[in-house]
Amino acid sequence: MNTIREDLREKRFLVADGGWGTFLIAEGMQPGECPELWNVNRPEVVRRIGENYIAAGSDLISTNSFGGTRCKLEQHGLGERTAELNEAAAALSRQAAGADNHVIASIGPTGKFLITGEISEEDLYDAFKEQAQALERGGADACIIETFSAVDEAAVAVRAVAENTKLEIICSFTYASVVGGVPRTMMGATAADMAQATLEAGAHILGANCSFGSEEMLAVVQALHEAAPGTPILVNPNAGQPVQAETGIVYPESPEYMAGFARRFVEAGASILGGCCGTNPEHIRAIKAALRAIG
Ligand SMILES: [Zn+2]
Repeated sequence: MNTIREDLREKRFLVADGGWGTFLIAEGMQPGECPELWNVNRPEVVRRIGENYIAAGSDLISTNSFGGTRCKLEQHGLGERTAELNEAAAALSRQAAGADNHVIASIGPTGKFLITGEISEEDLYDAFKEQAQALERGGADACIIETFSAVDEAAVAVRAVAENTKLEIICSFTYASVVGGVPRTMMGATAADMAQATLEAGAHILGANCSFGSEEMLAVVQALHEAAPGTPILVNPNAGQPVQAETGIVYPESPEYMAGFARRFVEAGASILGGCCGTNPEHIRAIKAALRAIG
């Protein structure tokens, strides 16, 4: 199987997937429930999310393992099942992806910060190593270290994956603001800080996910491209800023609206396009069509 970077050299653009959480909620996941437990208790539901994205045109699909570090699973009393739940996550996405599409296993932040001293660098490293090795055993060929805000934590995660697996590494941050054209995370890190530290640690592809809607995300892609001109960039924006409607939380950006940004994202330097919160297979289908039209 090609690496993602090899595929990009052949195809120019690739399509990632969209959100997963809303589908689990639609199938009955309760607030406070551990999503990763669904990998063993409701595997058909999890596999179907991946299958729906492949059918919509995703070249890369994620895994249901965003909260799959031991640190996070311990909060549900499931720390001892870390390897099992992550292996299952990767196996389900591999079944959905087949042999020709990429499984970019999701690795999220631990929720613990080095800067406050609540976790040591060594424990953090071990947590990411354990998760990444299980995801690789389950059949992932790559990982997406995603929705990070802290550069030090992300660098440890990248290093743990790079030193202990063969997974291709995408490192993607979430941004909280863009002031004077400079995007910053909640922790104050800029896209340039993130790019430098995570590439040095061994990341192969940089990304931005969640954060905000498409328009605001353009500035992030531009900043990443300026910081690392030769590095492929993934962009998975939310379907806009969520608004509270009578029916619940609504994400305002339609598939057509998001797909309308495909050309601008590509011009800004992105080559892998997908979505985050509030996006679904219809968004992916529209993005795929828009990229096809670009060529
Ligand atoms: Zn999101």
